[in-house]
Amino acid sequence: MKIELTKGDITKIEADVIVNAANSSLLGGGGVDGAIHRVGGKSILEDCIKIRNKQGKCKTGEAVVTTAGNLSAQYVIHTVGPIWNGDEERCSQLLANCYKNSLKLAESLEMKVIAFPNISTGVYRFPKALAGTIAVEMVRDFKSDIIEKVIFVCFDDENEEIYKDLLKNKD
Ligand code: ADP
Repeated sequence: MKIELTKGDITKIEADVIVNAANSSLLGGGGVDGAIHRVGGKSILEDCIKIRNKQGKCKTGEAVVTTAGNLSAQYVIHTVGPIWNGDEERCSQLLANCYKNSLKLAESLEMKVIAFPNISTGVYRFPKALAGTIAVEMVRDFKSDIIEKVIFVCFDDENEEIYKDLLKNKD
């Protein structure tokens, strides 16, 4: 599996699947969630509402899939990151689950290229360096014959620097 780093807006990325850092309501929010719903259009929210009606809220660390609407991707995977509360062990486990469950879902959909934002590092305040370490570790540990490429999409300079460092450390 190839790992790439790119800086910018995830709604502009060419990928088969785009991952959204959603909240448990699945009904949209700010940050990357807001951008994905804005650009992707209302069909994403319609799918989210259907999922809500079927299973209720999405639990932290879990992932669900919807159409990607007007985005160029085929699907959006919505995963709910943990809100940082200082409990490093628990929050780290939940963030790791976000990456693992999203990768598993993408694999089950036979998707080749998946793009991740820096889940939980915005309003959920997860320390960026630790979040990056977990993200890279989970992706490196995930062995897949189906997924060919994972793109980490960093929106801010700090995350970009963190990921640059993490990805040059080995490959
Ligand atoms: P969370 O609630 O999981 O913290 P946020 O959307 O607040 O979610 O932030 C997650 C990360 O997404 C942050 O690092 C933020 O800088 C980044 N981000 C915000 N908008 C975009 C976007 N359009 N594309 C990619 N990343 C984005």
